[in-house]
Amino acid sequence: MVIAIDGTSASGKSTNAKRVARALGCVYVDTGAMYRTLAWYCLKNRVDVQDARAVAALCRKWKAALHCLEADGLRVARLFVDGYFPENEIRTAEVSAAVPHVAAVPKVREWMVKRQRECLQFGSLVMEGRDIGTNVFPETDFKFYLDAKLEERSRRRAADGVRENLAARDQRDSQRAVAPLMVPLGAKVINNSQMTSEQTSGLIIAEIRKRLAEK
Ligand code: C5P
Repeated sequence: MVIAIDGTSASGKSTNAKRVARALGCVYVDTGAMYRTLAWYCLKNRVDVQDARAVAALCRKWKAALHCLEADGLRVARLFVDGYFPENEIRTAEVSAAVPHVAAVPKVREWMVKRQRECLQFGSLVMEGRDIGTNVFPETDFKFYLDAKLEERSRRRAADGVRENLAARDQRDSQRAVAPLMVPLGAKVINNSQMTSEQTSGLIIAEIRKRLAEK
């Protein structure tokens, strides 16, 4: 089983995907972290993130591998590079600004989608991202799309200590040629501007149980 959770930046995808994975005993996969790791690796190796050929060349040769491990009582699949997962490094404003450029490179997306599909080897998945329901696992019956008002999303990001232009990032993600951010066909759309994460994840879990009972 794959539960796909897509949506705009800071719409609560990570918090809710982790809650759903815990409740249903699934492996949690943060695909944004995979793109962020490549963006960080480009910056570290002084590769211009706007140079699509150079980014694709780095992605072809970097030593990156998937691992499934236990973190905070949750099974998570993570992409390690040179045996390291840059957990804190990928959350900087610099990486956030660089990542949509890297994510728009077709060869990069091809590489990432392959790795994301390989996560099935670890078991049932809750996978969050921008193109999971449209492109990575379009055949799944469990698709969700989260959104919230821009002011509310900016407030949430600022509360995490991060200031960034979310609208600009969403625009880049929505307008790229390959696998742009959009609502997947058949997805349940949840605008959680006025909802707590308990309410949002509760709604997702109830919907999954309902669909499983109907099968
Ligand atoms: O989810 P997060 O904000 O960490 O994602 C960082 C960036 O990675 C997104 O803004 C987008 O450019 C890219 N991304 C993507 N496809 C995914 C997940 C993330 O293009 N499935």
